[in-house]
Parts: sequence; C-alpha cells; structure tokens
Amino acid sequence: MNSLPIKMNLPKKFIRFISIAAITLSGYLISGTSPRTDIIKDRTAYIGENLESIIHLQNEKFESLRIEQSRIPSVKVGIPKSYIEKTYKEYGTRPLGVYNPSTNTIFITDYPFVNINTVLKHELGHSYADSLSESLGNGNWPLACKDKYSELGLRLVSEGIAEFIETEVTGRKSNFKDSAWPRSTENFWNRDSTLKKYLIYDGGRHLVGDVIREYGREGIIYLMDNLPTKEDLSDLPSYKSRVLEELSNRNARLLYQLRYQ
Ligand SMILES: [Zn+2]
Repeated sequence: MNSLPIKMNLPKKFIRFISIAAITLSGYLISGTSPRTDIIKDRTAYIGENLESIIHLQNEKFESLRIEQSRIPSVKVGIPKSYIEKTYKEYGTRPLGVYNPSTNTIFITDYPFVNINTVLKHELGHSYADSLSESLGNGNWPLACKDKYSELGLRLVSEGIAEFIETEVTGRKSNFKDSAWPRSTENFWNRDSTLKKYLIYDGGRHLVGDVIREYGREGIIYLMDNLPTKEDLSDLPSYKSRVLEELSNRNARLLYQLRYQ
C-alpha cells in the first residue's frame, strides 16, 4: 500500500527536477558561464575562506596526539587528467581529491554533488604525513614503490592515516572488521574495484587507527618506518598487534632510561 503514492509522486518529482535543471542551464547560458566554471569559482572561494580555520580546528582536535599541521598546502580545484586516468584504472571510479607530495599540492574535484569538506580533510591527512616526513629529513611521503606488495603496504598505511585524520574530525563511522581481510595476499588484487577500495581505505584506517589513537605522532612515524611487508599482508591483525607491542616496549624502555639512567 505504501508503495503506490511513491510511484505516483515519481513523475512529478522528475518533472520538477527537469524544470530546475532547465532553469539552471538557461541561467548559465544567459550568464555565459559553464557549470564547471562556476563550481571551480565557488570551491576556490570556499577553500580560500576556510582552509586555515579547518587546519586550526584539526590541530586543536589532535593536540593531545601531538599531530600538528604546520604547513598550509596549496589547494587547486580540478584534478589533472593523469590522476583521473590512474584512479579509473585502479578503482574504477573518478578521484575526488589527490595530494601531490612533490609539490605539496591538494587537487579537489570540480565534479558536482561532492562534499568537498570531507575530501579536503582526507587530503590534509596526506599533506600532514608528507610534511612530517620532510620535517624528519626523510623527504616526500609517500614515494612510489618498486613492487606491488610494497605498494600495497604503503597504500594501506598512507590511506589509513588520511582516513583517520578525516574521520576523527567528521565522525564518519566504518564497520570494517579483521574478518574482512583477504585470506591470501593475492586476493587483494582479485577483487572488484569497490571492495578493493573498501580494503585500502576502511581497512587502512582499521589497521592504523588504534596505533595513532594510542601513540599519536610517534605512532605515525613508526608506521611510516615499518610498513607491512609481503608476509604481513597475509596476516594484518598480527602486524597491528606487533606494532602496538613494539611501541609499548619502546615506551617502557624510554621510561626506564629516564628514571634510572
Ligand atoms: Zn587518500
């Protein structure tokens, strides 16, 4: 019974949508600008007005973890074609944001109907990791890897850090559990693109989240220096436990040295 009114309302809604689209389009035609130009203009203005305060709020949020974004990256609206092609090939989707560690630049999509605030916060996570690496004298991060296993380990940690920074601020939840990890390393590639993306992004955040929550900046540095190896990829829960244990032992040693030496 409930479905009938919905069915009857659909054409009306559709007609209204078409009317709004037609009015918007004629507005663009009269004003002489294209929807893409307007999106670029609006988003560039939004970022110009809000970037510093977004970084400031992020720094406040992570103060106790000693995660501080001290560099303001350059942000451009519109993603270069080469990145779009790479992401399509890899995940079968259009990228919403990209960070280039060589030029410290964030690219935000000019595609409509995207919450660029969330995208910006994720990319700021990449920017933070890169500036942290540079401040330690280790250069740009992440750099491309030689083989697909190292690349996967790097990708899990890199996207995990960015997802952690974004979701701790936005409160976006994920239901990822250890049981979702592929049973063999090869199975990371034998997946459809949506699942692959879920493993890298939600899985990455699940992998590094507890480490960063517990050890903050030091945890991020440790993860960057100790990425999952080919062997770790077949048992990521053990990798995570090992990282937590090693950091705990290291802290205990430091505490002992401070007290007794
Ligand atoms: Zn990312």
